[in-house]
Amino acid sequence: MQTETASPLRKLGTAFSRARSDRNVLRVYSRLDIPQPWDMTEFVAHVEDTRRRRITLMPVDDANLPRNGTFGMWLALADEDVITYTTDTTLFHQNHIVCHELGHMLMRHRSTQADAESDAASLAPLFPDLDIRSLESILGRSQFSTAREYEAEQLATLIMRDACEGLLSRSQGVAARLGDALRGH
Ligand SMILES: [Zn+2]
Repeated sequence: MQTETASPLRKLGTAFSRARSDRNVLRVYSRLDIPQPWDMTEFVAHVEDTRRRRITLMPVDDANLPRNGTFGMWLALADEDVITYTTDTTLFHQNHIVCHELGHMLMRHRSTQADAESDAASLAPLFPDLDIRSLESILGRSQFSTAREYEAEQLATLIMRDACEGLLSRSQGVAARLGDALRGH
């Protein structure tokens, strides 16, 4: 059995087991059906099937969001999950942001009810078309554990790696050579 008591970070209350998180992420990742070639709509449909919950992707203009450096949010409402993502970045980064939030979903992360309640009031005017009163969990705005961030980011990175390799392997030309160069061959 692994012991974690040796970690000096534990005293700060921020320690988590990367080994355990990696195992959890790989277990979830191994069950995923990642489209080849990459197709975000198809992948979102796969996650919807897995969780039996509707997912709505909502591109947002940064100007409409609070200035806190948030690229994406996952709003868990009573009847659907909504992922917001900034359009003020590259298409690749937009895909990564959405995959990060999908990563939180797939890892079954949740915020506290208190976070959801405290954020609901400020979000309601920003998203008048959503049933913000039914907000059950929100990730992306509030402080949350390093373990959750680490796991969502690891899963998003694995998904995006597959997405990129699928795209590169279809080409025998410049893209393939670029892929080799990026992988250090
Ligand atoms: Zn996150």
